[in-house]
Amino acid sequence: MALSSSPRIRELPEHVRNQIAAGEVVERPASVVKELVENAVDAGATEIRVDLAEGGIRLVKVTDNGVGMGAEDLALAFRPHATSKLQDASDLEHVASLGFRGEALASIGSVARVRLISRSRDRDGALRIDNEGGSISGVREVGGPPGTSVEVRDLFYNVPARRKFLKRASTELGRVLDVLQRLALAQEGVGFQVTHEKKRVFDVEASMDLLARIQRIFGADLAQTLQPVEGAREGIRLHGYVAPPHLARRDTSRQMWFLNGRPLKDRLLSRIVKQGYHGFLDGPKQPVAFLALSMDPQGVDVNVHPQKAEVRFRDERHLFGFLVNRLKEAVARTDMATPGESLLRRVERRESMASAQPTLPDPGALPARPAQPAEPLGVYEVPGRPYVPTPEREARSEPAAQDPWARGDEFQGPYLQVNKTYLLRALPDGFEIVDQHALHERLTFEGLKAQLARGKVEVQQRLVPELVELTRDEVQALSEHLEALADIGIEATVFGPTTIAVHGLPALLQRSRPDTIVRDLVALVMRGQNLPEAGELLEDLLHSRACRSSIMAGDELSQGEIRSLLERASKLEHDQTCPHGRPTRVRFTLADLEKAFHRR
Ligand code: ADP
Ligand code: MG
Repeated sequence: MALSSSPRIRELPEHVRNQIAAGEVVERPASVVKELVENAVDAGATEIRVDLAEGGIRLVKVTDNGVGMGAEDLALAFRPHATSKLQDASDLEHVASLGFRGEALASIGSVARVRLISRSRDRDGALRIDNEGGSISGVREVGGPPGTSVEVRDLFYNVPARRKFLKRASTELGRVLDVLQRLALAQEGVGFQVTHEKKRVFDVEASMDLLARIQRIFGADLAQTLQPVEGAREGIRLHGYVAPPHLARRDTSRQMWFLNGRPLKDRLLSRIVKQGYHGFLDGPKQPVAFLALSMDPQGVDVNVHPQKAEVRFRDERHLFGFLVNRLKEAVARTDMATPGESLLRRVERRESMASAQPTLPDPGALPARPAQPAEPLGVYEVPGRPYVPTPEREARSEPAAQDPWARGDEFQGPYLQVNKTYLLRALPDGFEIVDQHALHERLTFEGLKAQLARGKVEVQQRLVPELVELTRDEVQALSEHLEALADIGIEATVFGPTTIAVHGLPALLQRSRPDTIVRDLVALVMRGQNLPEAGELLEDLLHSRACRSSIMAGDELSQGEIRSLLERASKLEHDQTCPHGRPTRVRFTLADLEKAFHRR
């Protein structure tokens, strides 16, 4: 059999090889921009200008004031794997430049019309070389300033299959700008000017630091919310800024990591940001953060990704812990002031958590009430505080001409009822939030106490006694205290070995359910101590779940009912806390509000 069939394996011509390589490096205009700007940075430029047309599809032109190239360099620039940045393989261990693969210009030249003009500082004039889809011209002399400009026209004009995958110009422009913003933030010391269709898009001055750059590119509103992050550890330095959790977005366009001036999109680093914000974020949102790492290039392998966006750290685990901790501290320092809406959501959540709890037998051991006003307001950190009577406020209780509260219009509405729990009303110098339940509890308590002092608690008799089933022991224990209970208006008798009959309750507690009151009392009695004296017993009773749930908790109140509640409470000697010391109201002064809104 003849072995002379012609060989089928051939080495591909260079321009085809470059086009294939271009598939890895050059995906779209944004990748062209990235490669060209990286080259300008590597050339030591302090000013970089980027001009675009049609989202970069028709034109990307990058002009720099860097070191430029001589004639020999220029002749090699479009050759594959031609680079001035590496000499041998060992250099890969400590890459300090942004580029090093020597692929970009060759790749771009094979899929576009490229014109490179460069002038090194030691030359009088500039040199020019063209590459049209892989066919490279000779070097010729032209006029031009020191530095380099690379003009890339008609990307993928000769590769229709790739061109088809490009999106609309506006979409491509968006990606180009994302790349440019990241580079402009990463490269302190370098000025950037960007235009599209001859219109200015953004610019930053070389002298601007990271914060100034963020402010220029993303605006003062964002920059003002940022908290600095700093840290250093074993040759690694972290410097950057984090935004408050509530500014988190759906995309990562404002989450940036830079490593030695190189923008990264690295999975490990994304996880670090996630961890840093853990517990502060509501849902799968992307925090806003700008974080720059500097470290010895030895500590990181940048050659794991053709576009060099991912890296491999040699000491991942230590780095992780260190960075997460620094971030956490900074995130905690951001202004967590939550918009009012989510404040109320928190209240609701607590309410429903509390109502899901079973009736607790021991009133003394009841958990703190679900919605203490001081607590949700604490979210604001600064402003909310319980209204504590100060001497000057005390003085107001004596009718004084200058007392704004004595004018009689004190209880002019309108009132706002929030979550059937809180009453809001404007005051001359701010506003007040009243916990309707706590206030009503205080009112009921004071009312019962006054009746007790007069020697007679008003009782609401029942036509038919309510029978409450208990254990023998419980009935036994309660039976010893029926007289004391009668003193505070709870009229009950033993009805059978396991039954108590309730004939009447204090009129002020008419809405309470007799069976829960009895059970709460049983729990009190079964604690083994003597029954407290009447006043304390009342207090305990009011604190019991039975009463708490019956006193204006979760009631929808009309404007009239609110007004009457506030008016009645204002006549009490003490209406600033409920019988158990919790505040009934919290006031925000105008000064508090100014602070909360950073007006001062
Ligand atoms: P790499 O950046 O990986 O070295 P490139 O193909 O991007 O590869 O560039 C090839 C070489 O061309 C670079 O190593 C550099 O010497 C030179 N070069 C490219 N752009 C510039 C520029 N703007 N200024 C000076 N030299 C440049
Ligand atoms: Mg390069």
